[in-house]
Amino acid sequence: MEQNNEDNLAQVQHVVLVLSGKGGVGKSTITTELALALRHAGKKVGILDIDLCGPSIPRMLSVGRPDVHQCDLGWVPVYTDAEKSLALMSIGFLLDDPDDAVVWRGPKKTALIGQFVSDVAWGELDVLLVDTPPGTSDEHLAVLENLKKHKVDGAILVTTPQAVSTGDVRREITFCKKTGLRILGIVENMSGFACPHCSECTNIFSKGGGEDLAKLTGSVFLGSVPLDPLLSASIEEGKDFIQSFPHSPTFSAIT
Ligand code: ADP
Repeated sequence: MEQNNEDNLAQVQHVVLVLSGKGGVGKSTITTELALALRHAGKKVGILDIDLCGPSIPRMLSVGRPDVHQCDLGWVPVYTDAEKSLALMSIGFLLDDPDDAVVWRGPKKTALIGQFVSDVAWGELDVLLVDTPPGTSDEHLAVLENLKKHKVDGAILVTTPQAVSTGDVRREITFCKKTGLRILGIVENMSGFACPHCSECTNIFSKGGGEDLAKLTGSVFLGSVPLDPLLSASIEEGKDFIQSFPHSPTFSAIT
């Protein structure tokens, strides 16, 4: 198949990477909710899930492990809705055994990511979100290298309030600076606990770290999302939180 990434990304208006310093801070959750919020705002969105060791987006969007079909331009992304306004391609769709990628060496991961960037027939998209593995690794360098010909708008950094002062986030920022990747903004996730009964938000950990980090790095603070059991349940069940809980405080934080 003769193909280059300019063809398949030619009709993609914006490419945004979602990064986090370490795992478990809610990077994939924020990617999913951001995609859903954009879709509800009438945009056509794609998610490229290159978290090779933990591809969780298919579960979060309730698409399971469908067969991926081929067309003349490459792999056809999996659409989550009849209108085809949210397209997804995940490494999780292609692995026979989801544990396979964990034992792959760098070159194999790099090769697969190269293929992922060039061979998915996205068609017209307003935004393509790239969900990356935690930290900075071969996968990050590979995706940037392969997106070189296409303009990457920048990265959204997801952090928790207490992680802000740790080296993980700082390493992520250094990575962005060294690779010339613009930080579009910082999202503080799990900032406070949103009580499902009284809608009060209690700050369990320190507060405002994401905002401080944004000031320190001259980045935009995009907002904070509380730790919300309703969001957690929606993510676990693959339900659209934005559609299900339009009156919750977390809804306002996300949209
Ligand atoms: P990462 O991609 O950074 O490894 P995930 O997005 O997979 O993290 O989130 C880890 C866990 O935390 C998931 O079970 C998810 O449902 C939960 N989670 C993430 N953000 C929130 C939140 N704001 N409120 C409640 N649960 C959350």
